[in-house]
Amino acid sequence: MAEIIDGKAFAARVRAQVAEGVVALAERGIVPGLAVVLVGEDPASQVYVRSKGKLTIEVGMRSFEHRLPETTSEAELLNLIGKLNADPAVNGILVQLPLPDHLKSDMVINAIDPAKDVDGFHISNVGLLATGQKAMVPCTPLGCLMMLRDHLGSLAGLEAVVLGRSNIVGKPMAQLLLGDSCTVTVAHSRTRDLQQVCRRADILVAAVGRPQMVPGDWIKPGATVIDVGINRVVQEGGTRLVGDVDFDSAAAVAGAITPVPGGVGPMTIACLLANTLTATCRAHDLPEPQGLTA
Ligand code: NDP
Repeated sequence: MAEIIDGKAFAARVRAQVAEGVVALAERGIVPGLAVVLVGEDPASQVYVRSKGKLTIEVGMRSFEHRLPETTSEAELLNLIGKLNADPAVNGILVQLPLPDHLKSDMVINAIDPAKDVDGFHISNVGLLATGQKAMVPCTPLGCLMMLRDHLGSLAGLEAVVLGRSNIVGKPMAQLLLGDSCTVTVAHSRTRDLQQVCRRADILVAAVGRPQMVPGDWIKPGATVIDVGINRVVQEGGTRLVGDVDFDSAAAVAGAITPVPGGVGPMTIACLLANTLTATCRAHDLPEPQGLTA
């Protein structure tokens, strides 16, 4: 039976480490600030933004929330981002996605100062990560990397398969694993013989958004499985969250596995706070926190 990688406990440790970093900055009179911009009424986004704000304050940072109506124009949103870019009290800016259809996310994200882009989606940060330079790294893959390093130590030489090639998870995850000297395969909906590809993996990261798509017989015995998927399924009259991996059959084969919920999810917000701390240290030319960056 696989060891369960407890993302909830790990995330609590990361947040405690961030809080220590915030205390050290306070001695210099610096308080990191994170601005979250939410446009519209998407219920899931409202929940995320609330919990981000709560945890930001818990680690001792300032939280600035900007809730804008669904009808906000591009010019109004860009104007707000410009103000946040110029505000020295704001070290991190996150625009909650998805945006309403009339707003172009790429353009909006690329208007954020790359040094404050704590989501790591700005094209400059994407390029810096791809070329192995100091970047702001997307939170979900950063959390996965931290858990893998914590569990396996050095990742050098391991076969890693990333299932999914999105800009927010799959691609940056592959870059991070390459950066740690894994041999990386990125699989997607056009990949032939997914089972054989996945069975090669010492590290399997599943980020497809298909409930329980990866069964145990796709997994190499002893592999480390990171399940990024968050899928709500209807079951016995109610709903529950499941991952992209079929947990029970996978846990019988894998060496270690993250559960859903309680795996990657909590690490994502912890890494957002870690990125805000990193951005603050960089803005003040101070040493970066150890163990919280790629
Ligand atoms: P996207 O929908 O953007 O990307 C999904 C990827 O999976 C695509 O590359 C797609 O391939 C691939 N894919 C879809 N179906 C198949 C299939 N049948 N076989 C092989 N590959 C397939 O999703 P995201 O990357 O944004 O998210 C993935 C999952 O992770 C979702 O469940 C999401 O909710 C979750 N998530 C969780 C987070 C967390 O904090 N834990 C944060 C972000 C996401 P193709 O490109 O060919 O279409």
